[in-house]
Amino acid sequence: MVYFVGAGPGATDLITVRGLKLLQEADIVVYAGSLVNPELLKETKKTCEIYNSAVMTLEEVIAVLKRSASEQKQIVRLHTGDPSIYGAVKEQMDELERIGVLYEVCPGVSSFCAAAAALQAEYTLPGVSQTVIITRMPGRTPVPEKEEMKALASHGATMVIFLSTGLLKELREELLQGYYTEETPCALVYKASWPEQKVIRTTLKFLPEAAEQNHITKTALVVVGDCLDTDYQLSKLYDASFSTEFRQASKKNG
Ligand code: SAH
Repeated sequence: MVYFVGAGPGATDLITVRGLKLLQEADIVVYAGSLVNPELLKETKKTCEIYNSAVMTLEEVIAVLKRSASEQKQIVRLHTGDPSIYGAVKEQMDELERIGVLYEVCPGVSSFCAAAAALQAEYTLPGVSQTVIITRMPGRTPVPEKEEMKALASHGATMVIFLSTGLLKELREELLQGYYTEETPCALVYKASWPEQKVIRTTLKFLPEAAEQNHITKTALVVVGDCLDTDYQLSKLYDASFSTEFRQASKKNG
């Protein structure tokens, strides 16, 4: 079996219990060298073969993963954060499917969750936003026209923007064509959960300058939206006048 495992955002204790167990049992590990914390590899068996996919092509990765069937090896393909977000996993899964190699996915803590933790933020504040948009600026990978940044920005939802730290001026222009203003709060979270984590809070007006002053050029997320500081309504979940599946209302509604 090949297990696609989410390694989490960086801190070695933010991999899941299941993911750690799979890593400890693996005969072969292929890890995404650019962002997976190499400290995690210390968890592997002494005999485990380790490959860094940052220096490999898709064909080379697949040639290793195939060995789970031909040599009866347990293989972990270790991806950063959660594999489903910008993980380039589908092409690997499809190829395994084509050649008849079994695989499973073990989810991970995505960096957008680690960024919320670093910011001590709630992305879905009642009365402010009940929607989180995860997106990116186009780079070598284009973004479909229907999802262009200014269109997504028209909702005024909480936005978490991946892979765009090198394009912050362009990003700001696009966001300002949507719902947001120069005063909209935003933040840059660099290497969330790593020892070198940096959290920079600013407004849209100063976003590119804030990155420059703090020498942030990559491995960061941009979070934009009024959830970062504003008045909001208390949630219904803990409201004394509302009954839930677990709790009877103690006050009359309204
Ligand atoms: N699958 C990963 C994302 C991979 S794409 C996940 O779920 O998090 C790589 C991009 O993710 C980086 O360019 C950066 O924008 C973001 N990223 C990954 N780890 C990060 C971290 N610890 N802190 C901030 N951003 C991170």
